[in-house]
Amino acid sequence: MAAIIELQGISKHYSRTIIGVDNVSLSVEDGEFVTLLGPSGCGKSTLLRMIGGFEAPTHGKIRLAGQDVTHVPPYRRDVNMVFQDYALFPHMTVGENIAYGLKMLGKGRDEARRMAAEALEMVGLADKIDQRPMQLSGGQRQRVALARAIVRRPKVLLLDEPLSALDARLRDQMRIEMKHLHEKVGITFIMVTHDQEEALTMSDRVVVMEKGRVAQDGRPQDLYDHPASPYVANFIGTTNFLAARRSGAGVATAAGPLQVEEAVDMPDGAEVTVGFRPEKTRILAPGETAANALPARIAEVIYYGLGLRITVELADGAQVHVDTLLPDTLARSDVPRPGTPVTIAVEPHNIFVFPGKVVV
Ligand code: ADP
Ligand code: MG
Repeated sequence: MAAIIELQGISKHYSRTIIGVDNVSLSVEDGEFVTLLGPSGCGKSTLLRMIGGFEAPTHGKIRLAGQDVTHVPPYRRDVNMVFQDYALFPHMTVGENIAYGLKMLGKGRDEARRMAAEALEMVGLADKIDQRPMQLSGGQRQRVALARAIVRRPKVLLLDEPLSALDARLRDQMRIEMKHLHEKVGITFIMVTHDQEEALTMSDRVVVMEKGRVAQDGRPQDLYDHPASPYVANFIGTTNFLAARRSGAGVATAAGPLQVEEAVDMPDGAEVTVGFRPEKTRILAPGETAANALPARIAEVIYYGLGLRITVELADGAQVHVDTLLPDTLARSDVPRPGTPVTIAVEPHNIFVFPGKVVV
């Protein structure tokens, strides 16, 4: 597959001290759905605006379909942007909103309307062409904004937090719809979000950003299963962290030794941090034995419908979360009570090892 977008060492320095984006290199393939993910202020929107041409990079080069567009204005890039607030014209009909940019491209009235109708069909709003934005729900307005963005079939669609204005239920539904829209139109989507679940469920590839830089770039499942740093392990999903030292073939924590499978390229005795997911952590049945068993005591049990989040305390006082699905036969007496001694275990291949002592 060919790269549709190539960023080479892109930086944006707003001032000597404010660095929005710091030396980002990234290649996006034609037709991919890539998401820029990270907390507020990490440079996602700045990077997206530079791809769209709304902001000029301080350093670096941007190529679109092989052409250097670093200094090309937005309207001459084959890229379109969907803004967070949709920016629809209230005095125009839905059809007019979508056809608006087409007249400037020299399309006649009829052709523009036909193209608008086609784009509306794509987002499932064919019957709303003559209504005004005010007559639509939030989700429908969002779809109109999407239709307007794809009507010219740009090579790349840029979406900055496109679902953030919608309520939770609608957001879930729009995630799926946008994924389907991406499949239907076949153009490259680059989306920005701070919501890890949104990023994981919608994208082919996720670029996790940290302070203007790329922390990790990969397929959702690779990021989840092999986070490159505690930052990523903590931002995507939940992770238990324990301070440890390299020891023999594994690590030694204050609560006991753990075998690990990850290659650890550090000398014996070196400070490391181990991480493991709550849903990969088990509470052993009475009498059961397993690798990496650590004695613990139940500290808190929280019911969240689908299952339980059990917080346990290890011998040294460190707290560890254990997520477990509720068997439908679970008797009330089987729910562990605070204070109960238990043994937890994590399989060696489910343990991440990071160099150094990490405060997350
Ligand atoms: P995100 O979209 O990830 O929340 P932004 O790209 O908006 O982050 O911002 C990245 C950093 O650049 C932040 O520290 C922000 O304050 C700063 N920044 C963004 N836009 C400007 C601007 N126009 N002028 C000065 N600083 C800016
Ligand atoms: Mg932003």
